[in-house]
Amino acid sequence: TDQLRDSAAGGDVRLTGIGKTYGAFTAVHPLDLTVPQGSFFALLGASGCGKTTTLRMIAGLEEPTSGTVVIGGQDVTALPPYRRPVNTVFQSYALFPHLDIFENVAFGLRRRGRKDVKKQVEDMLELVELGQFARRKPHQLSGGQQQRVAVARALINHPQVLLLDEPLGALDLKLRRQMQLELKRIQTEVGITFVHVTHDQEEAMTMADTIAVMNGGRVEQLGAPADLYENPASTFVANFLGQSNLITAQVTGAEGTDLLLSAGGVRLAVPKARCATGAKEIYLGVRPEKITIAHASAEVAGNRNRLGGTVVDSSFIGVSTQYVVRTDAGQEVAVFEQNMERDARIVPGAPVVLHWNPAHSFGMDAAQAID
Ligand code: ATP
Repeated sequence: TDQLRDSAAGGDVRLTGIGKTYGAFTAVHPLDLTVPQGSFFALLGASGCGKTTTLRMIAGLEEPTSGTVVIGGQDVTALPPYRRPVNTVFQSYALFPHLDIFENVAFGLRRRGRKDVKKQVEDMLELVELGQFARRKPHQLSGGQQQRVAVARALINHPQVLLLDEPLGALDLKLRRQMQLELKRIQTEVGITFVHVTHDQEEAMTMADTIAVMNGGRVEQLGAPADLYENPASTFVANFLGQSNLITAQVTGAEGTDLLLSAGGVRLAVPKARCATGAKEIYLGVRPEKITIAHASAEVAGNRNRLGGTVVDSSFIGVSTQYVVRTDAGQEVAVFEQNMERDARIVPGAPVVLHWNPAHSFGMDAAQAID
């Protein structure tokens, strides 16, 4: 891993005006993106948003229609994949079925006539915790183990950047979760820049330190997972990363650090710092788990962010009780209540009051937030 750490130096990726069209169709609108050296960076988005095309342009597997790719200070735009300081791990592990695990990992080194192959392969197998499987064939390993072999085989070439194209897509959910933590551990250990493509928001949030959310061939928002979650810039991002209630409200004034709002006559507030400035009408965002629900007769402190309504549906799903509430302002709001006893579940038809701390909400200019 020390050698890998050395090769990691300088592995930042700079995309400038990089774009891709297929005939009249624009898969990726010209975009600027910097991936800092040593970061775990996720390109996240729904199918067809252009994330794979972006990754393949970094790899050199796809020729951009415009723009430049610079890796570790070197303009690689005109270089073929094998001359770029990158390696790619695909969803299909593409291991050699007739070679054992050791030889699969050793392959790149042998081809380039490298010395001390044994030591390097052993170190690498140790890194991915497969030392005891060196003499097995790929078909004698589980999917997750095969994927770790693919990672070892890519890392042994000492790339500055490891590109991962939905590498966990073929695994079942439990194994996926396990491998996410495993890949994160490996990335931390070797310090190489990882660029990871996924459509799974939980996966991106688990692994990445920075996420670029893509939509329709553009980067819609870039940031740390918690920032994207707590302060999404659009309805798309708000709903792609988890679930969000978006309540239409009019801006009525300001008080201290808060903007004051009215939703169908109900007084609400949102921190100015977490809301678009200058908007007349906003979508007030509040995550279902940030809302508390109580019987309408219960005492609720304060007179802001106090929204009356009626339970439309309630289901106990183990980790939480999930409600749909039709508010007196006429909107449906989702509420996840985590600390409620199963028997305390509020039944449909019951009048309730919803409450949340304004600091846990965000606001978007209604005129600009929809894609
Ligand atoms: P997925 O998760 O389904 O792979 P993605 O976000 O990675 O989706 P891309 O593979 O980057 O999406 O594709 C972006 C768009 O470009 C899609 O609409 C796709 O149909 C289109 N596209 C990709 N390759 C080609 C091609 N060779 N010719 C024409 N259109 C293409």
